[in-house]
Amino acid sequence: MSLSSNKPDMLKQLLHGDYPDARGRYGAFGGRYVPETLVPALDRLESGVRRHLHADDFQAELMAELRDWVGRPTALTPAPTLGRRWGAQVWLKREDLAHTGAHKINNAIGQALLARRLGARRIVAETGAGQHGVASAAACARLGLPCTVYMGAIDIERQAPNVDRMKLLGATVVPVTSGDRTLRAAIDEALRDWVSDPDGTYYLLGSAVGPHPYPYLVRELQSVIGREARTQMLERAGALPDLVAACVGGGSNAIGMFHPFVADAAVQILGVEAGGRGAGLGENSATLSYGRPGVLHGSYSMLLQDAHGQVQETHSVSAGLDYPGIGPEHSLLHDSGRVRYESATDEEVLDALAECCAAEGILPALESAHAFVGARRWAQANPGKRILVCLSGRGDKDMPTLQRLLVPSSPERAT
Ligand SMILES: *Cc1c(COP(=O)(O)O)cnc(C)c1O
Repeated sequence: MSLSSNKPDMLKQLLHGDYPDARGRYGAFGGRYVPETLVPALDRLESGVRRHLHADDFQAELMAELRDWVGRPTALTPAPTLGRRWGAQVWLKREDLAHTGAHKINNAIGQALLARRLGARRIVAETGAGQHGVASAAACARLGLPCTVYMGAIDIERQAPNVDRMKLLGATVVPVTSGDRTLRAAIDEALRDWVSDPDGTYYLLGSAVGPHPYPYLVRELQSVIGREARTQMLERAGALPDLVAACVGGGSNAIGMFHPFVADAAVQILGVEAGGRGAGLGENSATLSYGRPGVLHGSYSMLLQDAHGQVQETHSVSAGLDYPGIGPEHSLLHDSGRVRYESATDEEVLDALAECCAAEGILPALESAHAFVGARRWAQANPGKRILVCLSGRGDKDMPTLQRLLVPSSPERAT
């Protein structure tokens, strides 16, 4: 890669955790590629983050909500049957047990608390499959903040149950009929809303993407996953894991899991992207495997694009990984070689999901099952090791897809 001449510097910076830099850069990645109208709002957010995020009183308030409302710390579950099958010692970090069923709530409640501190009168959020919309709606209800969720018109049709969940939680869901009428257009619309009233409105972004300071803010809020898991591994396994694995869409559960382990040189780290139906254009969402550097939603990072720089259509069996970009910190971790990134195909993912169900009595989200594919592959190449997998969410939401693709239509069922 173009940055390879700087690798020793980059690695040193990574191991000390002193990034992003003052301009929100992760090596060459990150930054703020936004229209001028957005700059004051981002400046205000950045100074709010600086002032409150690590202040004792804010942290106390956040920790109380994570404990009493989200249900943290989430369990670390040994997975002995998977372990026997893989020839490894397997541990699962159970974000599926967090309130609303996935890690997204850690970020949503954290940013909603910050918004209240900053005096916001309303929250706007984007959503694709609806998981971040539900988490935002729940956090806003909890704190008594009005919530508007922008959602592509196509996604609204595909994800009707989540739309109704958001409404039940008191949110206003606004259909986006511009652009690609999915997640990309929804983010654009939410940004537009925020710009029109940067004082009274707070934009609650759902992954470790977007302009500075969002990738940093989301990482800090999701790092509770890796901090807890690190402590739990030392207590329960008596040692750090040899491998930490997580699935990567925008990259928030992965960066939250990885960040507290980056300085542990003996711990190998593996991110698993959505390989979809294969390597062809538009057939996957594996940004680091098939993308090139570019700008999307205010950030310079790796990006799936065609020869003219047009952002590519994506595909994944899991709606939550179906995004053509990736958080800038992952692009740096990839470039530096500190984290290895692979992809898992839809078929491999369905197989791993079924294996986890049968072996451990846990139905993971299709997104999370990507991490299992990578972990299993690694276990087969590295026998007898300790493996920590981030189980980012529960799979109940995926039942319509699973009924179509996985559940056998046996003769007994037909009668
Ligand atoms: C949204 C989602 C993801 C992907 O988002 P990241 O920001 O990459 O973590 C992964 N797993 C689950 C369960 C999700 O809902």
